Amino acid sequence: MKTLGIYIHVPYCKSKCNYCDFYSVTDLSGAGRYADAVLLHMEDYQESAKGYDVDTVFFGGGTPTCLPADVICRILNGVKDHFHLRSDSEITVEMNPATATPAALKKLRRAGVNRLSIGLQSAHDSELGVLGRIHTFEDFGKSFADARKAGFDNINVDIMYAVPNQTRRSLRETLEAVTDLEPEHISLYGLKIEDGTPFYKIKETLALPDEDTEAKMYFESIDFLAEKGYRQYEISNFSKPGKMCLHNLKYWNCDEYLGFGPAAHSYFRGFRFAYKKDIRAYVEAMEYPSRKPDILSEKYEIPVSERLGEYVMLRLRLTEGVDEDAFAERFGLSFERMFGKYLRLYTENGFMEKNGRFYRFTPKGMFVSNYILSAMLDFESELISGVADGTDR
Ligand code: SF4
Repeated sequence: MKTLGIYIHVPYCKSKCNYCDFYSVTDLSGAGRYADAVLLHMEDYQESAKGYDVDTVFFGGGTPTCLPADVICRILNGVKDHFHLRSDSEITVEMNPATATPAALKKLRRAGVNRLSIGLQSAHDSELGVLGRIHTFEDFGKSFADARKAGFDNINVDIMYAVPNQTRRSLRETLEAVTDLEPEHISLYGLKIEDGTPFYKIKETLALPDEDTEAKMYFESIDFLAEKGYRQYEISNFSKPGKMCLHNLKYWNCDEYLGFGPAAHSYFRGFRFAYKKDIRAYVEAMEYPSRKPDILSEKYEIPVSERLGEYVMLRLRLTEGVDEDAFAERFGLSFERMFGKYLRLYTENGFMEKNGRFYRFTPKGMFVSNYILSAMLDFESELISGVADGTDR
């Protein structure tokens, strides 16, 4: 039986953080109707997903725990009603500190949610204030303790580096405070100033670390987390043994998943598609099905060239890297022959390494992976169009 991940986008937040470009709104008045729309939407895939076992469900956002726990449970029951949900599935809900009561957490756990992902970002309230977060570190500590009491034994904590005014020391203090609590998983993201965010408007005035300091923050964090027993398995993700996020691994392994909600993406039966960032249009399209084509922001069948590029890009995000044999089996091409000049260049300069059949980034390569991947993939698309033309092989 093939497996499938389900992603449910919950586009609500109590307030918007200064750096965030995820799609969410702060008016929760339509949340009940939104949940109904998501359930209606699931009906569309009930037939086509019949040959699949759903083994991961991920409620992301936004802030899913802005919704009453009953509403999350109702959507989760919808997943159970419309798809074949395996009994050992990983079911994750993202939450922010102070957005779920102990009773709500217990309700979620009883309904089958078995993983929480808590957005902390920093253990320093001054840094949280700059980011526009609406919680304190103390709120986080309480939510973490409540989650443990409710029976959650698989918790991720999000941490951010390269925050304005952050120092290597203050980042280290955040890492110490978080690892003292022993979550099973830690995500460590570098702040990016995205267009359209409040930070973007004042980016010249932000006291951001220089590139050298940012790199040191990243490398020192990797070392610190390794000492504490967290193995890096992806550019930004670290886990205790056996606690990798199975849902996110689907994205990086190019496995299939279905997304529900505005801004949600899917990869299903050879197609990639996504919905517009517009809750109202999404809800109305589910209530008046003739409007459904209008809410797609993209839909296309993935050509071989793109599949290959995506595979390389996503697999190299993982510390395991690209398996030459798996690549040859999947695409009928030699990874070394295709990318030889880059593999040699980056290996000689310490950005990549070869471990048995696997080519992978070193930590130094991970830090600049965007640049390396864009060079490799530009070259790959030229090569693929050459193959398609029959001009090169
Ligand atoms: S809580 Fe999360 S999704 Fe909401 S605005 Fe902040 S970072 Fe974005």
